[in-house]
Amino acid sequence: MTAGPDVPGLVADARAAIGAAATTEEIRQVAVAVTGKKSPLAEASRALGSLDAEARRELGRHLHEARAEVEALLEAKRSEIRFDELSAELAASRLDLTEYVPGSVAGPVARGHLHLVSQTRDALEDVFVGMGFDVAEGPEIETDWYNFGALNIPPAHPARGMWDTFYLDLGEPETTLLRTHTSPVQIHLMERAVLDGNLPVHAVMPGRCYRRDTPDARHLAVFHQIEGLVVDRGITFADLAGTIETFTTAYFGPDIHSRLRPAYFPFTEPSAEFEVTCTICRGEGCRTCSQTGWIELGGCGMVDPAVFASVGIDADDWTGFAFGFGIDRCAQMRHQIADMRALIENDIRFLRQF
Ligand SMILES: [Zn+2]
Repeated sequence: MTAGPDVPGLVADARAAIGAAATTEEIRQVAVAVTGKKSPLAEASRALGSLDAEARRELGRHLHEARAEVEALLEAKRSEIRFDELSAELAASRLDLTEYVPGSVAGPVARGHLHLVSQTRDALEDVFVGMGFDVAEGPEIETDWYNFGALNIPPAHPARGMWDTFYLDLGEPETTLLRTHTSPVQIHLMERAVLDGNLPVHAVMPGRCYRRDTPDARHLAVFHQIEGLVVDRGITFADLAGTIETFTTAYFGPDIHSRLRPAYFPFTEPSAEFEVTCTICRGEGCRTCSQTGWIELGGCGMVDPAVFASVGIDADDWTGFAFGFGIDRCAQMRHQIADMRALIENDIRFLRQF
């Protein structure tokens, strides 16, 4: 009896080769080597023909079992490799979502605030509303009549030189310009009150104004003004002085007072400049107030009968006063801002202080 092939040895060799394979390509090559036409298993099968019937049946059964076992080992190894390769592929393509989480913010996000001029305007409105005034507004583009004519400043009047401005249109029927003061709103208010028959008028008028000034420490070509107008029966200069003093202490503080000095304006008669206690030296006298202890804030006076005539109010029945001053100047005085141009330069280091 010839020695048959070592079937358990073939299987052991195949198992070792299969175990060593690590990739799809390697397991494919191992499969050819252990089950292909030139494999030891195939050679052992070819030897079957030289055996007698019983030995052939015996070896055939062993070879069949051996081949089945090797095929099973191969399939198990293929699954294992496919799983490993897929896992590696998944790991490589997985999204790392932590890359997309926004960074944490160090503190609360700054929200900014109103500009100092807007804050000042709001504070002034609050004071006057508390005193019983309404708040009114009007257009920034005016006709020559509303800006000058109705305010007793006829063409060629020398006072126009104080309020030179930007003209938009010199054509007919009327010249249009950027208003030089908020006084035109007074004319609109009085006209409407006469038309609607609802005099008296108690109103303040804040707004933007324009003059052909070169900006310097105390002047801007675009600035903000607030005016007040009272038209009623029996209004006197004492009402004007009392209103100015009440406003001054309410806005600047109880130790800041006001005084009136004679002046000239075309639209009021008599007229006055009003001054308030110097906010820097508190009345002691300093360089800013030229040692007087007072700083000029605005102008005021009794409404000129010529202005009443231009809007159709009977000056025998009604009297009134008006006053006006710069909102920017107010902010400059209250916060001791040396140069008014800081208000329009938009330097965040300056603005965030208020
Ligand atoms: Zn002073």
